[in-house]
Amino acid sequence: THFGFKDVPESEKETLVGEVFSSVAKSYDIMNDVMSLGIHRLWKDHFVSKIDPGRRPGGEPLSILDVAGGTGDIAFRMLDWASEVHNDHQTKVLVTDINADMLGEGKKRSLSTKYADGSRISFLVQNAEVLDSVPDDSQDLYTVAFGIRNFTNIPAALKSAHRVLKPGGVFACLEFSKVNFSLFDMIYQQYSFNVIPMMGQLIAADRDSYQYLIESIQRFPDQETFAQMIRDAGFETSGSGYENLTMGIAAIHIGVKV
Ligand code: SAM
Repeated sequence: THFGFKDVPESEKETLVGEVFSSVAKSYDIMNDVMSLGIHRLWKDHFVSKIDPGRRPGGEPLSILDVAGGTGDIAFRMLDWASEVHNDHQTKVLVTDINADMLGEGKKRSLSTKYADGSRISFLVQNAEVLDSVPDDSQDLYTVAFGIRNFTNIPAALKSAHRVLKPGGVFACLEFSKVNFSLFDMIYQQYSFNVIPMMGQLIAADRDSYQYLIESIQRFPDQETFAQMIRDAGFETSGSGYENLTMGIAAIHIGVKV
């Protein structure tokens, strides 16, 4: 139960997570900006530039799977990156999420982008632990941003990630992590536990969902532990396997399917 809610049995966690994201779907994008003071945009930009998605000279366009993709923040960035940096207008992203309301917001968003025709982005309800509509060895890149800490069974999700990637395919995760500087951590903890639920109340009239988000961050394993879980699922990592962002408030983990 170490990845569960406090006092909540694992069996009920999935339902609860569903409710949290249904209730935050509409306010999700603005709350992200408010809570992170806009920094999540910089992390996401950095994440995408680090993965550097897009067709290589002489290569094929990519099939990318963005898991727990929610309203599509990462997916749109990756398509823009492929187009602008690699002049690749064919790489596709399949955005999956367990929550249809989050995907609905993403789909709505896509209609006001150059991807409105749906030829490069599609949305599909899928539990990350199962991914039963995604074939084995089919994806070049698997991304998950601020999603994996919500999964009930993280090792199962990592196994599924490994299954759907082609050999040589890349697993890339952006997630909240552990701050590695104690004075800053004290300030960050105060901010998390006092300010964020209050902002959730004020902006989204939903204190409990934002309280949950904070608790899920607390429960998520530290950088080294998570890197080991990725290796245990069969991925190879280079060096430590991760990069800290903003003193470890978030971290990027990368693994390659060999
Ligand atoms: N990746 C997006 C981003 O960076 O803005 C959305 C992140 S949002 C904080 C977390 C998402 O994880 C929610 O949309 C939620 O529905 C999804 N989620 C939670 N548990 C899941 C599961 N077991 N399988 C797939 N998605 C899940």
